[in-house]
Parts: sequence; C-alpha cells; structure tokens
Amino acid sequence: MAFEDNQQLTRIFEEIADFLELQGENIFKVKAYQKAARGLEGLERSVTELYRSGALASMPGFGKALVEKVSQFVDTGEVELHQELKSSFPPEILHLMDVPGLGAKKAALLYKELAIGSVDALEKALREGLVTDIKGFGKKTVDKLLEGIALLRQGEQRWLLGRVSQLAEDLLGRLRALPMVERAEAAGSLRRGKETVGDLDLLVITSSAEEVMKFFSGLGEVIGSGPTKTSIRWEGTFQVDLRCVPAESFGAAMQYFTGSLDHNVALRGRAKRMSCELNEYGLFDALGQCIASETEEEIYAKLGLPWIAPELRESGAELEWEKQPQRLELSQLRGNLHTHSLWSDGTDTLEQLAEEAQRRGYQYLAITDHSRSMVVANGLSIDRLLAQGEEIARLNRGFQNDFRLLWGSEVDILGDGSLDFPEEILARLDFVVVAVHSQFSMSPEAMTERICRGISRPHVDVLAHPTGRKINRRVGYQADWEKVYQVAREHGVALEINCSPRRLDLNDKAARRARDCGCMISLGTDAHSLPEFEYLPLGVLQARRAGIEATSLLNHLSWEQLRTRRPHLADV
Ligand SMILES: [Zn+2]
Ligand SMILES: [Zn+2]
Repeated sequence: MAFEDNQQLTRIFEEIADFLELQGENIFKVKAYQKAARGLEGLERSVTELYRSGALASMPGFGKALVEKVSQFVDTGEVELHQELKSSFPPEILHLMDVPGLGAKKAALLYKELAIGSVDALEKALREGLVTDIKGFGKKTVDKLLEGIALLRQGEQRWLLGRVSQLAEDLLGRLRALPMVERAEAAGSLRRGKETVGDLDLLVITSSAEEVMKFFSGLGEVIGSGPTKTSIRWEGTFQVDLRCVPAESFGAAMQYFTGSLDHNVALRGRAKRMSCELNEYGLFDALGQCIASETEEEIYAKLGLPWIAPELRESGAELEWEKQPQRLELSQLRGNLHTHSLWSDGTDTLEQLAEEAQRRGYQYLAITDHSRSMVVANGLSIDRLLAQGEEIARLNRGFQNDFRLLWGSEVDILGDGSLDFPEEILARLDFVVVAVHSQFSMSPEAMTERICRGISRPHVDVLAHPTGRKINRRVGYQADWEKVYQVAREHGVALEINCSPRRLDLNDKAARRARDCGCMISLGTDAHSLPEFEYLPLGVLQARRAGIEATSLLNHLSWEQLRTRRPHLADV
C-alpha cells in the first residue's frame, strides 16, 4: 500500500542524501538519509500518523535529527534542509548524478570547475573536450561517461521490468474495475518477462470500446487514438497501448501482441507450410475458415505444438524443441536465499523479516548481511556475526512451525580472491553467499582468477549477482564465465539470479548457460526492506526465460536438504 505522504518524504530524503553527497558530506550522514528513505518506502502506515502518535521515534534509524525533519514535513509539507540544499544548486543537477560512472565526487568537481549542471551540458563538454584539463578526466573516463550517458538515455526509453510490472498492475486494476470491462490483460515483452520493457501493451474485452477509450485517454497524454486503440504517454515518457479485442479472438490477439517478433514470424511460417494463415484475429485454413482463435492453447495445438510459455517465445527456435521445460511456479520455491536486516544495511529486524517470510508461506529465509569489509553497508565484524547467530538460534527455537531462519552472510570476495571471514567462521554458518563489491575494473584474467579463488574456498553455497551489472546503469565486469561456471560446478557452488529489478544478474542467457554447465541456480531477492520481497516473482520470470526448472534451484530444496549440503554442521 502506498501513502502519498510517505512517497513525498521518501523523495525528499533521497534528494537530501544526493545533495549532501554532492557537497562532499560524511558518507554515514548520506547513508542515514538513504536508509530513512528506504524505511519510509516500506511503511505500512502513514508517516504523518506515526509521527503524531509518537511512535516514529522508536522506529529503527529515526534518531532525533530525523524525527525533527519529519516534524517539519508534517507541519509544512517540506523540510528546511531540503529547500536550502535545493536552492544552492541548479535544478537538473541531481539528474546528472544518474549518469552511470559519474558519481557525486566527479559531479561536484564538474559543477565547481565548469558549472556543469545538467546531462546535456555534460555531454556537450565531453564531446568538445572541455573537461580534459580537469584532473581525473582522461580519455578513458570521457569514453566511459559518454557510454554512461547513452545507457541513461536508453533507460529512459526502456523501463525496468519491476517498474513496468507495477504500472501494469495499477492500470489493469483500474480497467478491471470498470463495469463494461470483461477482461483486461498485459501482453508484449512484459508478459515475456523481459528485463526491460520499451512499451506496455494492454488488451481488453469490453461491451463498450468507446467508453474504455474515453476512460483510458484520461490517464495520460494521448499520442494516438482510434475506435478500438488508444496510445498514451505515461509520465510524459513511457508509451502504453490499449486495444479492445473481440472475445472470440482474444487468444489470437494475446499471441500476436505478446511476440516476440521472431517467434511470431516462425509461427506464421509454420502455419503457411500447413496451408493456413495466422494473424491477430485467429488461425484460418485454406478456405479462409477460422479454426482457432479464442485461446492461445488451441492455436498452438492446431499448429501441432504444445502451448509455449510466453517467457520462452524469443528466437523462434523454441518451436523446434523436442520438449518444453516444466514452467517454474513461485509456489515451488520454499524460501528466499539472500536478504539483509538491520544488522547491516537493511531496514528491518530479524523478527520482522521472519514474520514476513512466514506470511508468504516460506519454509526458510536466509539472512545474509554484509561482511566486515563492507564498512559503508555496516558490515558485521566476527563478534557481531556470532552475536547475530545466537539471536537467530533463539528465534528459531521460538517458531511454532517448521519455519527456520538460516544464519548466513554475504561475504566479500576481496581483491586477491580471499574471503572476508576465515574458514572456521564460514564453517559455522547455515548458508554462505559470496560476492564481489569492490575493484570492478580489473582485467578479465585477474577477475576470473579472483572469483574462481573465492568460490573454491570451503563452505561457499552461492555466488551472488555474479557479473555485477546494474541494468541501464553499469555493464558488468568482464571475466571468463565458462571457467567460472566450471569451477562453481566442481565445488558445488550455485550461481545466483539476483531478483532485484535493477540487477537480474545472472541474465536469462547466462543463467541458462550456467545450468547447462551443471551448476545449480539460487534465487535471492537481495531485499533490504520488506517490500523488496516482491522481487522474487521477477527472478522466477528470469529463470523461466532461461528454461530453468525447479529441480535446478536451491530454493526448491527443503531446509533439511540445504543443510545436508553442509555435512560438517551438527544436527539440530
Ligand atoms: Zn551484494
Ligand atoms: Zn546483498
């Protein structure tokens, strides 16, 4: 549930954090605002109401200074510090910080030296060679920044899957609530679960196309409209198309508008070879008689095919597969294997996380807070890790059902390939995730060596976000992935599909390859707050696109089975 006041204050806190970073403020102060923003986002009550009831001060992360800011917001709708900061910078400067590879320090320098305050101004300065006199802006950096600007612009056109899913849910909810709408569904690349989506396609069965068009036109800037189709631009940037289609050809329309283009070309070719014609209204035989149209299943069946799951409709080669993979279902996952709590940089207590996991019907939840080298993420020292282990054991004794918290850690693979905790500590944990969080720009050879060394250590279960990419923000680091998969398989280390919509790392192709190399796959939300548990279905979509079945997933194992992977642990 979203409260408007929470959303407004979240944005204000995020902007304060960005401005402070730009000013070169202490990183912990910056993080405090980021953390507060994340906490607000996940609140199930209005922050105004919480403040008025006096309950806010007891919320973790809300010290006196932050409560004071909330009080200003409740009284005036603004925060003084925010307004002060805002007035001391040009209006577009925060967008500048979105340029991948730029960062606050460089942005601040550019602003100070050349008064660059927008992405357009930066691009111009880079192209005209104006920045080369500034320290740290050599040719390599300039090329990287131009690449970053291109990524940023691409991201403005293609939204992340998570964002489009939410938008689709919102719009479909509104359409389904209309009395004249019988059915409303999303098609296109969203339905195929692609990691980014260029536009959203909605299909509706209705008794009055006219009324639906009128309603839909009111939701955004109209860029095209006809009797059964309207296109709008959502938030001024993102195109959403809505089509009204007859009930009897709904399956054909869903098939047609789901794509992909290549899949549809292959399917139409197959129809043609059978002397039929396939279009958005149905499948027609040589006499022009419609022989299938109401459901996708009957269309595929008449073409001599099993129903092909949307996530697999890509190159057209899937038409020739001997067997379609068993489609992975969310209900086949017994738990979430990557989460952060208040002990490191998450916003919730272990109790809150356990409660949420049980509410979602999980058998287990792996708590994988950061290890000690991640100082900015409040990484755990050995002492704190051990204390957390005791706390988890205490909570586990108290659960009435079979639910278990797994005592884990997200352990840094350091620059030389060693791990951030010694072996005897890792041996005591229920679950060990390892990951690269620093020194991204190594040579591919050095990075391969580093990762392979890290996952060859004993007691490692999962390599998290293996390539380090952030969609539309950062290309991943380079390594010899075939080698990594091979070493992972030899050591029984699973590769993660990190379910965060910003990462979805491994991507579909890489995950398929890792599985084909004999690796297990692990789905982890990397949740830092309760709403981020919602990322798990995005990971399921990605796994489906990779053709991964439940039997290849660590998450499909019971916690007892997960435990047998660590035979050195005493029975509980
Ligand atoms: Zn991580
Ligand atoms: Zn993490």
